[in-house]
Amino acid sequence: MKSFDVIIVGGGMVGATLACDLARQHRRVALIEARPPQAFKPDDPFDLRVSAISRASQHIFEGLGVWPLIQAKRAQAYDRMTVWENDSQSEIRFDAADIGEPDLGHIIENRVIQTALLEKLETLDEVELLCPERVKDIEYEEDQVQLELESGRQFSARLLVAADGARSWVREQAGIAHSVIRDYDQKAVVCVVQTEQGHEYTAWQRFLSTGPLAFLPLPDRHYSSIVWSADTAVADEIMALDDEAFRAALTQAFQLRLGEVIWTSERAAFPLRGTQAGAYVKPRLALVGDAAHTIHPLAGQGVNLGLLDAATLAEVLKGERDPGRFLALRRYERMRRGDNTAMMYGMEGFKRLFGSRVPWLGQLRGLGLNMVDRIPLLKRQFMIQALGLAGERPLIAQGLRGNRYEN
Ligand SMILES: Cc1cc2nc3c(=O)[nH]c(=O)nc-3n(C[C@H](O)[C@H](O)[C@H](O)COP(=O)(O)OP(=O)(O)OC[C@H]3O[C@@H](n4cnc5c(N)ncnc54)[C@H](O)[C@@H]3O)c2cc1C
Repeated sequence: MKSFDVIIVGGGMVGATLACDLARQHRRVALIEARPPQAFKPDDPFDLRVSAISRASQHIFEGLGVWPLIQAKRAQAYDRMTVWENDSQSEIRFDAADIGEPDLGHIIENRVIQTALLEKLETLDEVELLCPERVKDIEYEEDQVQLELESGRQFSARLLVAADGARSWVREQAGIAHSVIRDYDQKAVVCVVQTEQGHEYTAWQRFLSTGPLAFLPLPDRHYSSIVWSADTAVADEIMALDDEAFRAALTQAFQLRLGEVIWTSERAAFPLRGTQAGAYVKPRLALVGDAAHTIHPLAGQGVNLGLLDAATLAEVLKGERDPGRFLALRRYERMRRGDNTAMMYGMEGFKRLFGSRVPWLGQLRGLGLNMVDRIPLLKRQFMIQALGLAGERPLIAQGLRGNRYEN
């Protein structure tokens, strides 16, 4: 039976990042992914699934030598962010120049990130990618975990990591509870749109009483990726519209900020829930990314938190003779659970405030947005938070020298 230091189940953005990071410590890693991602070609149409990637996540990718591979494919930096409100005259604008940063983040297609990570993994002797492959059976023992795959192959490892997404099979098999902390009763409708006017390298977000609508700039001035979060009944209606009616509804909801919406791609809808696993670790097992937690996409933080999970777990395991040592795993859990939970409740407060139909709350938030817009220090703090540059972070996410991949 072949043995590894760590076996990661799930080669999405978070699992593949962890595999790259553990390889920096010369750990022998197996990465098991069920579905091979479609190869990327430069003239491929834009994907429906994109992520707003923070500076902290950029630092992680830079440290792993993956950032140039992402940039060689497709990524769009945005310099500004404009947020405005449903029925008051309030608006707030953030500008990277105000904090001396080159941009406020990047909008990147999920497939671009995943394929760049897998490309990097192919160059690493420490990592064996098993794809397409699934786990059939897991046996936890005191000093190792044994796995049988659907192909019949058998492996053992000192540590198993579940990076298999929100519906994690590994988490379920381990009997770890998965609580829906908030069922937002909303769905996010996503698609690619072409607008009459260029996007101005700006991330736009309008808060409607039924939920936020975001336009995220893509690497062609007239194309954006939209995330329209709305109460389930409204989202179902949006999904049922024909293309012409959808374009009209979107143009109106976005208040013609970029002129008419002149083309839209196919649409997809995702139910939105805030979830937390009952535990992030148990003996010989750690959960990372969506397998451990999910949040509302309104601040575009889900995968950024997952990447911090991966970087923190790798940092905590550095120098450990046994990468499955439970005390080290507990340290990882302590470092990440508070951060992830705080972000979820922060998003919840935001969503409630902006989703409220109570008139005085509307006035209050209008006042709040306008006030914040006039207080540079507060705006600065907000931007630093959104870039992921505040608070305790693993070294690699701080972009410190000496944390880069050495090759
Ligand atoms: C509409 C929407 C917009 C969002 N926008 C943003 C944003 O702007 N910024 C941001 O930071 N986050 C955003 N998020 C959140 C982000 O998409 C997720 O947090 C992120 O995809 C989680 O990554 P992951 O690797 O943990 O899980 P996943 O992306 O779900 O990857 C899990 C991987 O595991 C594999 N897998 C599953 N089961 C098995 C198995 N049994 N065996 C082997 N492999 C398996 C899957 O094939 C997949 O590749 C958004 C989410 C939504 C719904």
